[in-house]
Amino acid sequence: MPVADKIKNSLERSSWIRQMFEAGARLRAEKGAENVFDFSLGNPNVPPPEAFYQVMARLAVDRTPGLHGYMPNAGIPAVREKLACFLSREFAQSFTLDDVIMTVGAGGALNIILKTILNPEEEIIVPMPYFVEYDVYLDNHGGKVCRVASNQDFSLNLENIAGAINEKTAGVLINTPNNPTGVVYSEAQLRALGAMLEEQGRKWGRALYLISDEPYRDIIYGPQAVANIFSCYQNTIVATSFSKNLSLPGERIGYVAVHPQIADKKMLIAGMIMANRVLGYVNAPAIMQLAVAELLQEKTDIAQYSRKRDLMCAVLDEAGFAYTKPGGAFYVFPPSPLSDDVAFAKAAMEENIILVPGSGFMGPGHFRLAYCCSDETIINSLPAFKRLRVKYS
Ligand code: PLP
Repeated sequence: MPVADKIKNSLERSSWIRQMFEAGARLRAEKGAENVFDFSLGNPNVPPPEAFYQVMARLAVDRTPGLHGYMPNAGIPAVREKLACFLSREFAQSFTLDDVIMTVGAGGALNIILKTILNPEEEIIVPMPYFVEYDVYLDNHGGKVCRVASNQDFSLNLENIAGAINEKTAGVLINTPNNPTGVVYSEAQLRALGAMLEEQGRKWGRALYLISDEPYRDIIYGPQAVANIFSCYQNTIVATSFSKNLSLPGERIGYVAVHPQIADKKMLIAGMIMANRVLGYVNAPAIMQLAVAELLQEKTDIAQYSRKRDLMCAVLDEAGFAYTKPGGAFYVFPPSPLSDDVAFAKAAMEENIILVPGSGFMGPGHFRLAYCCSDETIINSLPAFKRLRVKYS
């Protein structure tokens, strides 16, 4: 047996997103890229802001001794200091450098959090549908996912979350703006969630963590910012990255920020710093830490995503698909005309449309479109979507 059974099983079940992306690559080679409408992968097509290239050009010739050396596992102190000042302004709390840990993307952030807080078999409640890597991350650290249904409009169902809490619950993991639905949770909902977790924490005699995964925080389309989660609940840990707001997913840079008054802060932080080391990340890439510290006020061009969202919605409207209009991120999650969403994804592929079945996000009966692609791909997909709709009306 060359590999462990668990990995073998995971390989066999391998992520639908990757499978569909690979199917898209095959189809492009066969039919020509311009004839394939690939909505499979959340890989930003809007370039990083110009300031990123300027900062990188400067850093590339910086010969300061030690710049590329080992550092504290939490990250470069001066970078964390800058980030703490930024977070203090953004979230109206007094963050210090000790409240932030630089990580290898949001994925790295989630892994150090889960490694630190989970005892074997403990549960994290996750509202469905969700970014399916959560399952793997939880399994990495001996945890269990406890899935709860969301409301019809993909908002949080607080009764379901409260009802799922038991003696094994370590916390709740939410993601706003959401992948795969594009939904942004309202401040009122998040406040109610915080109040409920306070009450349940008292009931069960332990502090329940709220892990808020926020890599899409800056990608929103309404006038309202994403709610300040730190003002909703004290035992909050934010996991995030610069993968989406600066279009840098390949550079693997993100961070964890904890509420300055979180319970048992010293131990929690020390645990996550150790987790960064023992999971083999050691520290986030040095040059990227230095770069993002200078780019905290920068964002990729959100207006481009806003336009793409409107184009995608216009295609769905015209082709006759129902959907919940996304308020953020760059995904939409319409109900599938076929109850078997995998069959629907296969049917879409016959029209050269690559989409991801909702089952891949624990949201069966739906499909996900990632519209972080070129405007032409979205616009030119209309006839294919129309044909698909006619076939399955
Ligand atoms: N969380 C969500 C909801 C995501 O969609 C993604 C990536 O697509 C991640 C975390 C991982 O982000 P990163 O690439 O920064 O590790």
